[in-house]
Amino acid sequence: MNVNWLQARCAEVPDPDIFYPAGYTASHKWQVADAKAICNNCPIKAQCLEDALEAEGAAEIPRRFGIHGGMTPAERHKVYRRRYLADLEAYVEQSA
Ligand code: SF4
Repeated sequence: MNVNWLQARCAEVPDPDIFYPAGYTASHKWQVADAKAICNNCPIKAQCLEDALEAEGAAEIPRRFGIHGGMTPAERHKVYRRRYLADLEAYVEQSA
C-alpha cells in the first residue's frame, strides 16, 4: 500500500494532544470520542492502525500510547491478541 502520510487528518488538528488523552475522567471519554471521529474520516486510517500494531508488537496495554487508526491502546491490544491467537491456532492445526 502506498500511503501518503501528508493526508493524515491529525496533522490538521490544532491540538494534537487530543490523540493522547490522559486519565479516566468524563472529559477523557469525550477526548477519545473526538480523536476517533477524526480518525474515522482519515484516508490513511487502515495503514495507521497497521503501523501502530506493528510498532507496538506484543506490548501490554500500558505500553501502548494514544489513539491510532481510530483505536485506543486497549482496543489495539485486543486486535493483537485476536490475531496472535488465530496465528497460534493455525500453527497448531498445521503441526497436527
Ligand atoms: S488514523 Fe492515524 S493518521 Fe489518521 S487521524 Fe487517526 S491517528 Fe492520525
